[in-house]
Order: sequence, then structure tokens, then C-alpha cells
Amino acid sequence: MEADSKPKKSGARLCCVCTQNRAALKRPKTLEQICRECFYAVFEEEIHQVILENQLFKPGERIAIGASGGKDSTVLAYVLSELNRRHNYGLDLFLLSVDEGITGYRDDSLETVKRNELQYGLPLKIVSYKDLYGWTMDEIVKMIGLKNNCTFCGVFRRQALDRGAALLKVDKVATGHNADDIAETVLLNILRGDIARLSRCTSIITGEDGPIPRCKPFKYTYEKEIVMYAYFKKLDYFSTECIYSPNAYRGFAREFIKDLERIRPRAILDIIKSGEDFRISTTTKMPEQGTCERCGYISSQKWCKACVLLEGLNRGLPKLGIGRTQGLNSDAKISNGMVIQEESVQEGQLFCTNQVNPEDQFFGFYICKK
Ligand code: SF4
Repeated sequence: MEADSKPKKSGARLCCVCTQNRAALKRPKTLEQICRECFYAVFEEEIHQVILENQLFKPGERIAIGASGGKDSTVLAYVLSELNRRHNYGLDLFLLSVDEGITGYRDDSLETVKRNELQYGLPLKIVSYKDLYGWTMDEIVKMIGLKNNCTFCGVFRRQALDRGAALLKVDKVATGHNADDIAETVLLNILRGDIARLSRCTSIITGEDGPIPRCKPFKYTYEKEIVMYAYFKKLDYFSTECIYSPNAYRGFAREFIKDLERIRPRAILDIIKSGEDFRISTTTKMPEQGTCERCGYISSQKWCKACVLLEGLNRGLPKLGIGRTQGLNSDAKISNGMVIQEESVQEGQLFCTNQVNPEDQFFGFYICKK
């Protein structure tokens, strides 16, 4: 009969790479149908090529992997360990975690990192906000509420990672920032008109002029592929969101990028490319880096941002570095977001700190008190 002579439709597609095995997934980045083994191979190989092409590491280097217990840093720790072994990178790898002191979130995720320490055989160092600054995020939120908590947390984390890296005596810190994160940051910096950060946010290595550079081996790795990799490999990671996470503006950018990705998966890479191609006009005045008079951390102001925020907390004036109040740094170059001459900032005049200091994590207005 005619019906019997037709080939039966199995519904199963073959992997487009090996053409042998049944495809197990559609790669979010390329939409290719691929089997699990080929997915692992291409995922790892792409990261290896990014490491080689950008010379992220040198043989013999000590590398701290910023480890939160989340999917990105867990996959990074796993893949870097694998590649280090497979390709003889000759790296000494460590896990470095920051304990912000968030009960019900970070305490649980740190348990995951402690298990990763054993699973991957990587020594773990944990630095805490309580030890470094005398405050936990729980205490900070109790004082300031849920409005600017991520400002404090972001500024403190940046320094905490550097201080932990210095304790470990590492040459570089590798972070799990993925392609989606970087595309989001490009978009946010455009929306905020933050030229200083826009020019740096797509760099695969940052802080080369500082004590310990940072690198992003996942710069071109899609978040969805990291999730798939972690899921199929059954990696042990923590997937709960921070209980203090109200970051609506970033969330909006994230949703927008996810919408674009649905229509055109390449959109993520295109946004990164656009960010890379932005050139800062030579007439744009960039801040000069110095060191904080108080703690010695890199800063383009007299006090670094963490010291300003800490002073506010310790004086019971948590909005000192955030709201419309008296600031501690007076060498302003910008007023209300407009570039102006330093000498034209008058006593009592508001100026936007975010435009002055590229290390700033927030948009505060200070009153100049020179
Ligand atoms: Fe810190 Fe905010 Fe992230 Fe929570 S969401 S860990 S408070 S930066």
C-alpha cells in the first residue's frame, strides 16, 4: 500500500554538528538543533577561544573566580577548571565569595559555594561586609529601607572583591558576567548618558591600571545557554533571587533585551558590538584616578564611594552619599548632569556625582561645599 511505502516521521531531528545523535536542544544563540555532547563541546570551545583571542590569562597566574553560588559563577568555576586541565593553562584557581550579610539569601548561596569548593577542588575565600565595613546588608536595609540598598551593596561589593583578591594574592579576578548582562549594561549606560561607564562596560578586561584586573570569560556567552549547560550537567547552583532586589530600571532593560532576543537572537551580540564601537570624543573630560585619602582604594575623589557611604551610615545619615544633602567630596566638575568648569561650581550648588567618578555605582546629587 502507498501509505506503508512512505518513510515514517519519527519527529526526532539529528544534531546539526555530529549528524549522528538525536538533537536534544535548540541553541539559543544560533537556533541550531544540537545534541547534548556537541552542545557541551561548542559551549566550552567558544569560551576557550574567547580566552585565547583576548589573552585573558598567562601561564602560572593565580586567578580568583568571583563565586556567588549562582548559575553564572558556578558554570564559570566548572568550565574554567575543565579548560585549565584540558588545555594546560597552568592557572592556580581559587573561589572568592562576598558575604553581604543577607539572611535567607547569601547564607544559603554560600553553602552552595562551599559544596563547589569540594566538588571542584578549588580553595575558597569568603570576605564579609561585616568584617570589612562593620555592617551587614540586613543592618543597612534596616536603616535605609529598600530604596537605595543596591547602591550600598554594589559599591561595597566592588571593594570587597578587590580586598579578597588582594588577600588571596591573585593576579586577576574572573567574573561570571555573561553576554546578556553586558548588553543590559550597555543599554543602561546609554539611557543614563553615562559616558565614562559606557566606554568601559564592554571591555573584556577592566582595571588594568588598578591593582588587580578583572576579566569576563563569558562576555559572549548567552545566559540561556549557561542555564542549559548547568541544567544538563546537573551542576550544583543556587537559583533564588536576592530578597532585597528591587532593581526596577535594570529589570526593565533586562526584559527589553529578552524581547529583542525572542525576535532576533543576535540582538544581544549586536548591542555588545554597538557598545564596543562607541568612541568617546576627545573633548569629553574624563576623571583622573587617584587614591582615597581615607582607605587608599582607587578613587577620583578625595574619598572613595564606599568611605562616603560608610561615613553616612556611621553618622546615622545614610542619605549622605545618596540624596540631596551635604557631600564630602568637593572637587566637582559637573552640575546637574551638565559638564561645567570646576571653578564654576559654587558653594551650595548641586552637582551630580555619578558623572564625576567612573567608579560610582549610583546617581546621587551632592551639594558642593568647597
Ligand atoms: Fe545586593 Fe541589591 Fe544584589 Fe541584593 S539585589 S545582592 S542588595 S546588589
